[in-house]
Amino acid sequence: MKKAWMTLLLTAFMVAAAGCSGGGDSAGGSTGTDAGGQAAGGTETPKIGVAIYKFDDTFMTGVRNAMTAAAEGKATLDIVDSQNAQPTQNEKVDLFVSKKYNAMAVNPVDRTAAGVIIDKAKAASIPVVFLNREPVAEDMNKWDKVYYVGAKAEESGTISGQLIVDYWKAHPEADKNGDGKLQYVMLKGEPGHQDAELRTKYSVQAIQDAGIEVEALAEDTAMWDRVKGQEKMQAFLASHGDKIEAVLANNDDMALGAIEALKAAGYFKDGKTMPVVGVDATAPAIQALQDGTMLGTVLNDAKNQGAATVALASVLAKGETPTKENTGYDITDGKYVWIAYKKITKDNIADAQ
Ligand code: BGC
Ligand code: CA
Repeated sequence: MKKAWMTLLLTAFMVAAAGCSGGGDSAGGSTGTDAGGQAAGGTETPKIGVAIYKFDDTFMTGVRNAMTAAAEGKATLDIVDSQNAQPTQNEKVDLFVSKKYNAMAVNPVDRTAAGVIIDKAKAASIPVVFLNREPVAEDMNKWDKVYYVGAKAEESGTISGQLIVDYWKAHPEADKNGDGKLQYVMLKGEPGHQDAELRTKYSVQAIQDAGIEVEALAEDTAMWDRVKGQEKMQAFLASHGDKIEAVLANNDDMALGAIEALKAAGYFKDGKTMPVVGVDATAPAIQALQDGTMLGTVLNDAKNQGAATVALASVLAKGETPTKENTGYDITDGKYVWIAYKKITKDNIADAQ
């Protein structure tokens, strides 16, 4: 009996002691979350300033989360919101410079403004990895410590067009007016963004390449935004109604907005349907595939884009040159990492998760 009590007491004491030392440890390691202050030295992990074009973007939120996860034990990230304003982003970059961070990762607000950021980075000798919004080649060539992580926009356009082709071929009734042509509406992302321009172009191209004649009933930008996508689709329905045979959206948020407008107009019930395609494969889009409201989407791999950005920036932060060996990613033309897209329908949802 006495021995049992002793064991219990001893166990209690050990648990308390472990708790104490655990607390002490984590207090001692508090530098992990604070990226401010001096440049990294000795055993500290490199400090990387990350400027996202705006936090309020579904896809970039996925990339941000992927970056945070990938940085664990590898680098300390200071992730800031540029609030969709280039002057704000430039100030954030100045701040990274003044804090003497070891590398930067920038998701430009205006990709044509990357040159200014590169000049600042070069003057301070801080390597920079751009992501998601591709600077023009002329800017990319300004300095050898400039990299880009993204995905080939053409590829996502082609895949989204192919989703419509597959549907059209399998559903003769999709040609509602029986004129042999596909009447479509296009919801574009932000004008000037490579993904908006090229997805628009290559999706239509893929449909034509499959031998299908097309007629654009309407095309407008909804700025990657779900609410704007809904509003624009409402307007398209008001002017073209049943003439619309397909909806192409440059991203899932706009496609989901369009689906809301279509639902309000009586679609997706009583046999009334509409092929709607997006890009990204976000969680709500996957849900829509399962519900049967979205026909298909294209996986825009946030996880690998985030991980590759952190891998490159960490290597650069240590003064090394990124290679396949030290980053795990192929480096094309000495400065680009291209993450592949993938076609997603309700049949291969697992590939997007
Ligand atoms: C994504 C969009 C996102 C945009 C932000 C694109 O690659 O498909 O959903 O809004 O990047 O720059
Ligand atoms: Ca038709």
